[in-house]
Parts: sequence; structure tokens; C-alpha cells
Amino acid sequence: MSHKFIIMGPQASGKGTQGKLLAEKFNIPRISTGDIFRKEIAEKTEIGKLVDEYLKSGKLVPDHITSSIAKKRLSKMDCKKGFILDGYPRNLDQALFLDSITPIDKVILVNISDKEAIKRISNRRVCIDCGSSYNLISKPPKKKGICDKCGGKLVLRSDDYPDAIAKRLEIYRKQSRPMLRFYDKKNILIKIQGMQSIGDVYSDILEKLKIK
Ligand SMILES: [Zn+2]
Repeated sequence: MSHKFIIMGPQASGKGTQGKLLAEKFNIPRISTGDIFRKEIAEKTEIGKLVDEYLKSGKLVPDHITSSIAKKRLSKMDCKKGFILDGYPRNLDQALFLDSITPIDKVILVNISDKEAIKRISNRRVCIDCGSSYNLISKPPKKKGICDKCGGKLVLRSDDYPDAIAKRLEIYRKQSRPMLRFYDKKNILIKIQGMQSIGDVYSDILEKLKIK
């Protein structure tokens, strides 16, 4: 069996961590279109410049650009026996495009409630001086409100205020719903309860990958 997977879930669901664990376990590349964008931007490639313009003006990168980046990456040799996609596809159009270039074995949805996502994200803090990140629940600073590394002030990013998070979650749910139906109909969707420890989420995934 090949291991061609998609991992998805709302922000702060822990899907990134699970994607890395699965990539190691099955010895397959973890492909994040977000990471590819950042690399292209840093290297100032043509596509990087284009993507940077969209992001700087606060717009979403158009589907055809994201899809062509994904297609190019998936055509590389290391994807032959499998891969795990994180952050792509994001909507039904992207899912249909992906379906036309490669079969997918399983789609793993790590789900958490909006309430939990808001709780996890609104506990994040970032240092205004050095950019180090903290989480008041899972990774608190030694001194309240102060960066361990440089003594700078810790703040909540404007993106991480509850209202902003709720808005992003709403967009995520709206975009992912038709895509989840598409994969559910194909009988390849695995739903995982994300409101448990990293280890428990991981063993749930492995178990469901075996059974189904
Ligand atoms: Zn700092």
C-alpha cells in the first residue's frame, strides 16, 4: 500500500505535529504549501515574489498558483511511494485538482472545537523584541509577561485575539466542509478527536489507518 495522505484540521488542532510524526513513521516527505511559499519568498524566486505580493496585501494566494506549486512538488521522486500534505488542499476546487493528478489513500482530519481552538490560540504570547513564542498553558515563560531569552515584553499578536481567531475558523469551516464531504464519499476520510494528548491523537491515527 502506498502512503499518500492529507492531514487537515483547524488552526491549533496539532495537525502539524501529527504530520511530522507520520512523515517520520512512514519515511515519507511532509509537504506544507505554506513552508514552500516561505522558502520561495526567502529565495526571491518569480513565484515567491508573486506570492509575497498577495500575502502582503492581505489576499489569499489564488488556487492556480497553490495548485501548480503542489503539483511540481508532488512530481518529485521522493513522493513516489507516499507523502503527507499539510495545508493543501484548502477547498473543494483544490481537492478536485489534486484528485486529477494523484490518487490519495487517506485524509486524516484532526478536529477540535472552535472553543478549544480559541482557548489554545489566545494563550499564545510572542516577544516584541526577539519574536520568541510562548503558550501560557503548554509553554509558559519563567516570569509572567517577560521573555526568558531577552527579557522583552510578551504580547498577544493582533491575529490571535478571540474575534480574529473566530473569523478565521469560520472561513476554515466554510471552505473545508464541501471538501470533507468529497473525501467522505470516497470513503477515505478518517476523523480523529484532537482534544487529547499528542500521543493519544497519534495512536488513534495509526489505529484507524490500519483498520480502514
Ligand atoms: Zn525575547
